[in-house]
Amino acid sequence: MGLVTEPHVHPFLRCNIWHLRGTERDLVVDAGLGVHSLRAGAPQLFDREPDLVLTHSHLDHIGGAHEFTTSYAHVAERAHTPATGTLRRGRLIDALGLDVTPYVAAMPELLVDAVPTEDYDVDAFAVRAPRSCATVVDGDEVDLGDRTLTALHLPGHSPGSIALFEPHEGVLFSGDLVYDLDSGEELLDGIRGAVVADYISSLERVADLPVTVVYPGHGDPFGRERLLTLIRDYIDSRGGIIR
Ligand SMILES: [Zn+2]
Repeated sequence: MGLVTEPHVHPFLRCNIWHLRGTERDLVVDAGLGVHSLRAGAPQLFDREPDLVLTHSHLDHIGGAHEFTTSYAHVAERAHTPATGTLRRGRLIDALGLDVTPYVAAMPELLVDAVPTEDYDVDAFAVRAPRSCATVVDGDEVDLGDRTLTALHLPGHSPGSIALFEPHEGVLFSGDLVYDLDSGEELLDGIRGAVVADYISSLERVADLPVTVVYPGHGDPFGRERLLTLIRDYIDSRGGIIR
């Protein structure tokens, strides 16, 4: 399995782009911010025209989707008409309805530290819609030939967040439902569209699955024990409110 990230994007918007090569089909999970072309910067992703699954439609996951022939997302994400987005911290806070945590307050005003070309206009950045975006519902399967992943609808971070689960291997591609950041930042529910009660229900559902390794939307992979700790910490921090 391959991993592509965007090194010149601030960690807050630096999403993991996972590349799975199957015997029959290839799959890419999430597409990054899209400041730099993935076809130019990571051509290996397109060796066999992969299907793209979007865990959700936040700008840092959907920005590069327009470069893929076929994308899939949950209907509640409205991925065919994504929000325009911005590379400026101040405007991003407004656009996403972000809570200004100390971490968000300390981010630089410009969220990239390099641009693809000298004349690139950071203020002209706009997320482009995917070329074609098909709908995924809970339980849909993605068959790559030698491995099959199941889509799980896990709202909370966003209304149509999905994860991909491979039951035989216990592998979960979690998107932004759960991750483990060096910065120690909590799971992000201080954002428009997030619902804490849904977040808790979704994490409880994941805790009950036989997950052994998580490949998250941000940060490094981690194992089951860490997953259960992250879930417990989140639920405790939100007062253990259940539904
Ligand atoms: Zn997100």
